[in-house]
Amino acid sequence: MRKSLVAGNWKMNGSLETVDALAEGIVQNQAEIGCDVLVCPVSVHLDRVSRLIDGSLVKLGAQNCSDKSSGAYTGEVSAEMLKEVGCSFVILGHSERRTLFSEGDELIRNKLLSVLDAGLIPVLCVGETLDEREQGVAEAVVKAQVLAALKGVTKNLESVVVAYEPVWAIGTGLTATPEQAQAMHAFIRSVLAEISEELSLKVRILYGGSVKPENAREIFGQPDIDGGLIGGASLKVKDFISICQAAG
Ligand code: PEP
Repeated sequence: MRKSLVAGNWKMNGSLETVDALAEGIVQNQAEIGCDVLVCPVSVHLDRVSRLIDGSLVKLGAQNCSDKSSGAYTGEVSAEMLKEVGCSFVILGHSERRTLFSEGDELIRNKLLSVLDAGLIPVLCVGETLDEREQGVAEAVVKAQVLAALKGVTKNLESVVVAYEPVWAIGTGLTATPEQAQAMHAFIRSVLAEISEELSLKVRILYGGSVKPENAREIFGQPDIDGGLIGGASLKVKDFISICQAAG
């Protein structure tokens, strides 16, 4: 009922040349992919990648956006602007934005509202630190992040994608075991069910954190895992395609 989604978060990587090769390589291999595929380059590469993937099955997403619609906000990019260059998704609340750029729950919620207002799909990232897991508060932290971001949101709520990314597994080579990931995904679904049972069945929940071709199949095989948000391994066409194949 939920179609798997694999999203590549290219972060602040690449040049015009490498981004072209990556986008073209993914499009050339799209016939081998059975899941929804999303690529998220840096904002200055969005327009270019949009043209390269035009007419293909590959979707375009941004890594961040402003909570404001327009005006004197130097350096910001609005959801409408992202839509105009071809984005249909926006990653929000990534742990790098939460920690390195001090983004808090309220700002993330306001960004989420802007994204939904523009008719785009937010990929809401949530996840606990290693310290929080060791203290036994991982579920409480993740629940608070999910509920704070979705508080009072009604419009297009079912389109939201949640990405569970344990902070200790991002870019570290450490991966949650399939059982750990499944347990948290099932928990997130139970949190969504507190809002609405129907919502909890419709929302796609992705796993992120050192997913590689070698571990993707087992992770994606879990019943509440609907695909992945991929960082490092999304920068190599071969690895990204094989991760997409593992998702369906
Ligand atoms: C990410 O940054 O969203 C991520 C999951 O990174 P990596 O796959 O490199 O751990």
